[in-house]
Amino acid sequence: MNSQYVNGVYRTRMRILACILCASLAVLTIRVAYIELVRGDYLEEMADELHNRERTLESKRGDIVDRNGTVLATSGSICRVSVVHNQIQDEEQVAKKLSDILGLEYEKVLEKVQKKVALQIIKNQVSTEEANQIRSENLKGVIIDENYDRYYPYGSMAAQTIGFVGSDNQGVVGLEVAYDQYLQGLDGRILSLTDARGITLEDIGEKLEEGAEGHVLQTTLDVRLQQYAEQLIEKAVTQKNAKKGALIAMNPQNGEIYAMALYPSYDLNDPFSIQEEALIQQWESMDESQQMDALNQMWRNWCINDTYEPGSTFKIVTASAALEEAIVGLDETFHCGGSLVVADRKIRCHKAGGHGTVTFLQGIQESCNPVFMTLALRLGADRFYEYLKVFQFDQKTGIDVPGEASGIMHKPENVGPVELATMGFGQSLTITPIQLLRAGAAIVNGGNLITPHFGKAILNESGEVLKELSYETEEQAISAQTSETMRLALETVVSEGGGKKASIPGYRIGGKTATSQKLPRSAHQYISSFLGFAPVEDPQIMVLCLVDEPQGIYYGGTVCAPIVKEFLENALPYLGIEADYSLVDENSEPEWGEEPIGPVGSVAAPDVMGMSFQEAKKAADELELTLEALGSGEVVAEQFPQAGEEIRKGTKLIVYLKGENTNDDREADGED
Ligand SMILES: [Zn+2]
Repeated sequence: MNSQYVNGVYRTRMRILACILCASLAVLTIRVAYIELVRGDYLEEMADELHNRERTLESKRGDIVDRNGTVLATSGSICRVSVVHNQIQDEEQVAKKLSDILGLEYEKVLEKVQKKVALQIIKNQVSTEEANQIRSENLKGVIIDENYDRYYPYGSMAAQTIGFVGSDNQGVVGLEVAYDQYLQGLDGRILSLTDARGITLEDIGEKLEEGAEGHVLQTTLDVRLQQYAEQLIEKAVTQKNAKKGALIAMNPQNGEIYAMALYPSYDLNDPFSIQEEALIQQWESMDESQQMDALNQMWRNWCINDTYEPGSTFKIVTASAALEEAIVGLDETFHCGGSLVVADRKIRCHKAGGHGTVTFLQGIQESCNPVFMTLALRLGADRFYEYLKVFQFDQKTGIDVPGEASGIMHKPENVGPVELATMGFGQSLTITPIQLLRAGAAIVNGGNLITPHFGKAILNESGEVLKELSYETEEQAISAQTSETMRLALETVVSEGGGKKASIPGYRIGGKTATSQKLPRSAHQYISSFLGFAPVEDPQIMVLCLVDEPQGIYYGGTVCAPIVKEFLENALPYLGIEADYSLVDENSEPEWGEEPIGPVGSVAAPDVMGMSFQEAKKAADELELTLEALGSGEVVAEQFPQAGEEIRKGTKLIVYLKGENTNDDREADGED
């Protein structure tokens, strides 16, 4: 072979090679164009499918427990069944088995099974038994994931406090929202590595990224006290045909809330079912936003989220301010002629004829309005407002549930003598029940402003403490001395004054009554309340009872004091606070020559039901009882005490008049 020949062959080969290369390039170009233009969507789909094959493993939401570990909210295991279309070998068989076990319609299941998607959910809430049955069938392409469902073992108990979760297992209201970050946990993931056709690669299979269980919230609530509070408040609201009611029990030393019972309530396991009969009737005719409003109203913790005019329980604030500023002594005397003229207005005391000459202490016991008007005026608007700030009525308490409101009061520059005087006895300003409870706690606990709260600690699943929750306390908001004086003064409200119905033999109980008239005052609707605490020497529990719009007799001392008494009678021994019966003997023996308590001066209350005012008055006079009438009807519809009950001579028989309106002027402002 000569070189020329070689060169020729070489050249020919090179030409052929170039042609092949060109052709290949052309094919490649066309192929790329085809892939980009025509198959692009398909490839994107495949990429999506790879992405979709990550399944979320829901973490178990942590429990909410009471102070003793009793479970208030928990998460039960619930399974989800899905199918991966291109792993299924026999569509009809899979559809048949799944529809049989899950009790679903075959046609619908088949439709889902045949859907050409990466992952199709067949059913969400599947019991463990059903899931196990499906597992035992060993069906290719069927996946079972475990999820968790929230469950509240006590149903409606403490509903407005605990709150509930949505379908995404996130808190919607209450403690479930406030502690979401601890309760929620971390979701895990299952990554399925697949080939382009979406088939799980056998040798690698599924990769699990473990999530983490949510932590447990230990609350300050006590199931036994909470249940008892709920029974009592339900009874009170039902018996008094009231709109609603609440009973809150708190440790005044540290702000731990033992019970917060609101009635009516709702079922935490079925939170979207309206409970109120009237609303159930109207439900269908309401539009969506009206329905949502009604539900929000039902879920609302109005002890924290809403303000009200406190009335006479607020006198403890005025009294504390006056003592702290040393502008009054317990034995200083005041005169109450039934009203006080402030600026150009005559502002009445609740006792129409007046209390006459009373000491400051008696003013507290009898809840005499002119005494507190005088003190508020003596303090002056600036100093009065300083104390509203001392007790932080202008701020939220910081309680650990969302949506808290704070007090609403006049701007200081708009406060004239009338506003100031009426604020002195708890009108012309509104506060939340929880704000009142906090102020009350500071007044009796030695002067420290605590933060009311429900969260005690964060625990792990085995109950070990991960984090103790702590709250702010402002030491000595008022002096220990003022606090001690107030404790003793409030004890006499129960032993001598308007709070007698809260007294329990063997215990030193303190308290203050209130009967606040709701706005507009012309509607003659009231909120009865009583704030009590025990034991006076070292308060361990403080209870606030509110009954909104009781019908008939509405005095706080009559409606709420007995409820607080009943609660404390059980709560005190339960908390390990024993009765001291030496206190009983001292009180019941008339060794000081006082009017003896007992059968000598007592009579059985007459039955005046159905009588006219005049007839009832006559019956009361005969037994040396003072008759006090409420309401503006003609006949007695309710009486207190009940007929036959032993009462001391000289004490009050209260009747509520109903029926034909006679437009008379016997109506009272409230006993307090
Ligand atoms: Zn008075």
